Amino acid sequence: MIRIDGSSGEGGGQILRSSLSLSLATGKAFRIENIRAKRERPGLLRQHLTAVLAAAEIGGAQVEGANLGSQALAFEPGIVKSGNHRFVIGTAGSGTLVLQTILPALMTTSGVSSITIEGGTHNLQAPPFDFLERCFLPAIGKLGPRVALKLERYGFYPAGGGSFTVTIEPCAVLSPVQLVERGDIVHRKAVAIVANLPRRIAQREINTVAKMLNWEAGQLEIIETKKSVGPGNIVLIEIGTSAGVTEVFCGFGRVGTAAESVATEAAKEARGYLASNAVAGEHLADQLLLPFALAGAGAFTAVRLNRHARTNMEVISSFLPVEFETAQENACVRIEVKRKS
Ligand code: ATP
Repeated sequence: MIRIDGSSGEGGGQILRSSLSLSLATGKAFRIENIRAKRERPGLLRQHLTAVLAAAEIGGAQVEGANLGSQALAFEPGIVKSGNHRFVIGTAGSGTLVLQTILPALMTTSGVSSITIEGGTHNLQAPPFDFLERCFLPAIGKLGPRVALKLERYGFYPAGGGSFTVTIEPCAVLSPVQLVERGDIVHRKAVAIVANLPRRIAQREINTVAKMLNWEAGQLEIIETKKSVGPGNIVLIEIGTSAGVTEVFCGFGRVGTAAESVATEAAKEARGYLASNAVAGEHLADQLLLPFALAGAGAFTAVRLNRHARTNMEVISSFLPVEFETAQENACVRIEVKRKS
């Protein structure tokens, strides 16, 4: 039984989610204590509990401690099976983080899976749906599996009520990938989405992005939608590279923050990316570590490695015989996955 300390490093929910993913993918049981110890409300919130229950369902696992607020959990996986599942978070908790928990195991389990997740689709401090669709999943596709996403309904915080379906066509083994050279910028697009909110919010965001990045009208889009229970707003900046990776940076609209400030957050992150030579931005970097480690080898470059990523590396090394070599080079960080010698 692998022992995980949920208070180590960043001390957040990622330690639990990565442990669940790795346990399913390796068949190794684990026990975690101090779950989310460094968060204001420690223990399992609805999003984390749904991730535990989803992992238990697809992996036929025995679980102890799967209750709201629980700060310790034991997880013993059985056999991972592909198939059709529906997981309901019940709050605006992030559905994309629940998907990322069960995805790694389903990428190499024989048979196609179709998973519907209901909850948040566009949450602060989690990958928005569009990031998964445009950035994360196409990058994962390079390792072999084919994963397609369909948004049924937006779920913005705090109302939630969103829904999306993912279809996973697995591959027998994950192929190691090199995403080191970024190449040219081949695509630029900014999209501001308003759900049940005035168009002028999106217009102000688009104007701000256009000014800060010096982009033209053809690269800017506004989407007005009513396919959302509550109100919501997000501005997304997409940058495609000839390495075949598209990065997506976002700013979440929220009460008390001007549309211009929301757009500025996203545009600053995009500028930082453009000024580096990296293939992956900060968020994609921490999300690539686990699938790359499952492939057993591979390398990528990132704008920077944050504490979240370093904590994730430690969790991954507890389950898999891999190590991460990092080197600062050419205005980015190079991360290489190697088998432990
Ligand atoms: P919690 O303890 O509340 O569950 P956590 O500390 O585990 O949270 P975070 O560090 O907030 O989680 O990040 C969760 C994941 O969401 C990380 O993989 C991070 O890269 C990703 N993420 C956060 N913001 C964005 C964003 N704007 N775009 C893409 N991914 C994001």
